[in-house]
Amino acid sequence: MKRDGQLESIWQSEGKHYGQENLTPDARFDVVIAGAGITGITCALMLQKKGVKCILVEASNMGFGTSGGTTAHLNSFFDTPYYQVISHFGLDAAKLLAQGANEAHHLIKDHINLYQIYCDYSVRNGYLFSLDTEQDKTLQKIIAGNQKVGVDTFETKVNPFGIPSVRVVEIPNQAQFHPLKYLRILLKEFINSGGTYVENCRVTSVEKEDHQLVSTTTKGNIISNQLVYATHIPPGRNILHFRNAPYRSYVMACKLKNGSYPEALGYDLSKPYHYYRVHSLDEKQFIIAGGEDHKTGDVNHTSESFERLGNYLHHHFDIEEISYQWSSQFYESADGLPYIGQLPGGPEKVYCATGYNGDGMILGTLAAKVLSDIISVGSSKYENLFLPSRVTPVAESGNIIKETANVIKHFVVDKLAVEKMMELADLENDQGKVINHKGNRLAVYKDANGHHHILESDCTHLYCTVKWNEEEKSWDCPCHGSRFGRDGKVLNGPAVTPLKEL
Ligand SMILES: Cc1cc2nc3c(=O)[nH]c(=O)nc-3n(C[C@H](O)[C@H](O)[C@H](O)COP(=O)(O)OP(=O)(O)OC[C@H]3O[C@@H](n4cnc5c(N)ncnc54)[C@H](O)[C@@H]3O)c2cc1C
Repeated sequence: MKRDGQLESIWQSEGKHYGQENLTPDARFDVVIAGAGITGITCALMLQKKGVKCILVEASNMGFGTSGGTTAHLNSFFDTPYYQVISHFGLDAAKLLAQGANEAHHLIKDHINLYQIYCDYSVRNGYLFSLDTEQDKTLQKIIAGNQKVGVDTFETKVNPFGIPSVRVVEIPNQAQFHPLKYLRILLKEFINSGGTYVENCRVTSVEKEDHQLVSTTTKGNIISNQLVYATHIPPGRNILHFRNAPYRSYVMACKLKNGSYPEALGYDLSKPYHYYRVHSLDEKQFIIAGGEDHKTGDVNHTSESFERLGNYLHHHFDIEEISYQWSSQFYESADGLPYIGQLPGGPEKVYCATGYNGDGMILGTLAAKVLSDIISVGSSKYENLFLPSRVTPVAESGNIIKETANVIKHFVVDKLAVEKMMELADLENDQGKVINHKGNRLAVYKDANGHHHILESDCTHLYCTVKWNEEEKSWDCPCHGSRFGRDGKVLNGPAVTPLKEL
């Protein structure tokens, strides 16, 4: 199974190809769902089970996006801590968010029980720990916020990961699973319930015509009443691209020499934070640890992010072998809450779900519930909390200004900073570089055999200059996170058209 990067994640071998290759001409559906990650597959299944006729279309294969590159902790707390949600949105909103986390976790458990899914689901205690006094101030605020919304949080002496800590808190009843074992069965159930699933089919645009939606895809048009963009970030050009910043996060799955794998989930409070879990695959145990996040396209050498993560892990654990390493993308929303509901500025009845931060297993499941309720019964109790068109003071102040400045910096500086290259031969094999050649900026990749593959370096979304990602072997746009393969094909939206081959 393919993923949106060159490196293999620990989950990938469980991905399967399903579905039909072609669209049935003139077929009509109640709902088109674009994207077969946790959001799209869960939403499609829930709607189809309610008797809504659905088609799920995936640009590549199931799990191609972040659901195949996640670490799949199932938490009742979020990257945006409850104390911040209380401060920005009020206590009732924070309590509703906590209720949503609970509901989404139950929904996952119900699916596992109902469809008898063997996806290595296990309940674990979560441990948050502070490594210095600054982190400890944050941890104390987290404890207070959790208590206000009713998420049990207890101080404890022992950090099960053995990392020396100022303070450790235990949050019971968290969980973990194998994301693709879970999604594979949900997808099968969707197809068995009469749902249509088409792979290698990208939705490129949608328009309203005569009270119905016409979705243009790479395999023809689809007519429907409603459309859900479960694409992690909606494609095309939208205000939400200015309210969500794309980030890369780095993960390693390692074997330990001492064979002592804590049955727990762990998180320090570094900025960016590190996260840990343990997983058994083919009777071998691995500690899976992640972190070293940065804005997509913001670093010149992605290998250094792996190096830092590796050094950090060697410092704290007795590592025998790093068996897997990969990176993946997430979207940080401007005010800390996801955007789920009607797509702002889009035709009516076109929905989106984005801005999950590193919490999309739970928030993607919750989004599926919210959207399936809006579509099937007309409303959801979470609708206003996640309204994509909301304008919040916190979003408009710091974050949006910071992100817009970052986009402008990349738009201007990256275009001027492109190097002249005297000889294409100067480029190492299996590497890429944006160069200035006779006044044109070119994205040049030299393959293992020394052949050059030359693309236009302007991102097809909003024309920022793409950057080479030496680890995932991709061209990444630092402005809104679109990513392209060595051949220029779209790996991540919002771009919908490939980089032009020259
Ligand atoms: C390293 C890392 C670790 C993480 N760990 C956790 C964790 O422990 N717990 C947690 O809760 N969350 C975690 N997250 C976040 C979580 O994994 C994601 O939020 C979640 O997987 C997003 O799911 P999705 O279905 O919305 O998007 P995706 O899984 O990205 O799926 C979107 C799909 O849409 C397809 N697509 C895109 N555009 C189109 C189009 N135009 N037409 C058709 N198809 C299209 C893509 O090919 C893709 O398959 C992590 C994220 C990262 C980066």
